Amino acid sequence: MIAVGLYVHVPFCRTRCGYCDFNAYAGLDDLAPRYVRALAAEASLVAPAWGDARFTTVFVGGGTPTTLPPTSLERLLAELRAILPIDDDAEVTIEANPETVDEGSLGRLRAAGYRRLSLGAQSFDRVVLARLERGHDPDAVGRAVRAARRAGFDNVNLDLIYGVDGEGLASWRETLRATIALGPEHVSAYALTIEPATPLGRQVADGLRPAPDPDVQADMYEQACELLGAAGYRHYEVSNWARPGFECRHNLGYWRRHPYLGLGAGAHSARGPARWWNLRPPRAYLASVEAGSPPVGGAEELTSEQIELEERFLRLRTREGVAPDGLDPAVVDGLVDAGLLERAPAGLIPTERGLLLVNELVLALVPQRPRAPATAG
Ligand code: SF4
Repeated sequence: MIAVGLYVHVPFCRTRCGYCDFNAYAGLDDLAPRYVRALAAEASLVAPAWGDARFTTVFVGGGTPTTLPPTSLERLLAELRAILPIDDDAEVTIEANPETVDEGSLGRLRAAGYRRLSLGAQSFDRVVLARLERGHDPDAVGRAVRAARRAGFDNVNLDLIYGVDGEGLASWRETLRATIALGPEHVSAYALTIEPATPLGRQVADGLRPAPDPDVQADMYEQACELLGAAGYRHYEVSNWARPGFECRHNLGYWRRHPYLGLGAGAHSARGPARWWNLRPPRAYLASVEAGSPPVGGAEELTSEQIELEERFLRLRTREGVAPDGLDPAVVDGLVDAGLLERAPAGLIPTERGLLLVNELVLALVPQRPRAPATAG
């Protein structure tokens, strides 16, 4: 049996944030009932190919999965468990935006078997939230975390974004303090990146909004390392911190290059050298599944050299590090001297500065940089 991660993509959102390039849509709620049925139908279509698998993690992401009513999310997990061999003690995560949940809905999700809640907090500064076009105010995050605790969630992640225009170091520090005060088990903090095909990307290209300042973002990253580290969170991947034992098992699977199955519009899958991805537009995805065809939109096969490079790239994103075999000792010495790598019994581990400069680290250690698998949500 092989351990596999299951990703389930829900592409619906209440509104569309200007910076977002995920496969997510506002105003398609009328498709939701068909879409939930299609997820189960797709699972049935692909299940025979995964007969030797046991699913150790499930991640229901998006989009905003909690735009679906609790009844649909209860049924979805029950149907997936009936179709696919999902471990009884699997880590089952659901993503949510604070304004889409309350104690009642979270209690139903917890009772249905969702064990880990990932909340899109992003910031505790209402100016920053407005710039991001988020649909919640800072108080909503605290309300959602407290509701999650009362509903029985003992594994909560808060997603944060830093480097938004108008956000200074003091604002970011307050966001980190407010995050820590809520006591989540896990924190993900991402530097805002400008995607050209988004409304924000076009505004930046037209000079209407400034691009993030990489020096300010580097300072913000260092603040996150400092404050989260001092509060007992272990920095285990470029953008992820966790209390010991609460590292996200699902995402660790991606970084360890374990196989994963993606269900839903645009979801990616990987097994051995093969990678494939589903049709991205929800209507095209639905049409394919409803016609009884796996909704595959494309596929590729990696060479053994590409696999080796990808493994090294992914491991350098984490504190698990890489074995020194095959690396140029002079290059390694230079990276150790520059404070980007440290030697440990397990191999070469990126320092916090090395994680910040992971792309430079990878370029120095490998002749070319392969693509990381997509993680939507
Ligand atoms: S950032 Fe999140 S909530 Fe906003 S549109 Fe994208 S997926 Fe939806």
